Amino acid sequence: MSTNRTFTMIKPDAVENGHIGAILEKITAAGFKIVAMKYTQLSLRDAQEFYGVHRERPFFGELVEFMTRGPIVSAILEKENAVEDFRALIGATNPADAAEGTIRKMFATSIGENAVHGSDSDENAALEGSFHFAGREIY
Ligand code: ATP
Ligand code: MG
Repeated sequence: MSTNRTFTMIKPDAVENGHIGAILEKITAAGFKIVAMKYTQLSLRDAQEFYGVHRERPFFGELVEFMTRGPIVSAILEKENAVEDFRALIGATNPADAAEGTIRKMFATSIGENAVHGSDSDENAALEGSFHFAGREIY
């Protein structure tokens, strides 16, 4: 089942700017089924662990500060080819490089504050989903 699932977060910038509804609409219109979802806020420790792979990068401090500054929506999504198709739907990391019609092109403001997260592999999708959700919260 995990090969048909990906994990996403609507990041604090998009929540602050009132884009939760529009982003969820794009996600469901693209054929993704929501199998888990919550409105929550990451602690410092959560964000440091979640983005641990970027610990040595110069933007790590900025990234953790951003991701913890307000609530997010986290979700597990199901669709055939979920990881790849969701990355296509959200667009490039930097909204300036993102294709027209992608979520980041429409709703992101900068490379740091880029509206949404999408898992980059099936393995990470499974790890990230279980970081955020207990088994009984996944339907
Ligand atoms: P995400 O993992 O959030 O889906 P991504 O896979 O497109 O994004 P990553 O390279 O994994 O990009 O970077 C993780 C996050 O770190 C980015 O989404 C962005 O918020 C932030 N980030 C990446 N590069 C930079 C940068 N050069 N300056 C500031 N923030 C950055
Ligand atoms: Mg990434």
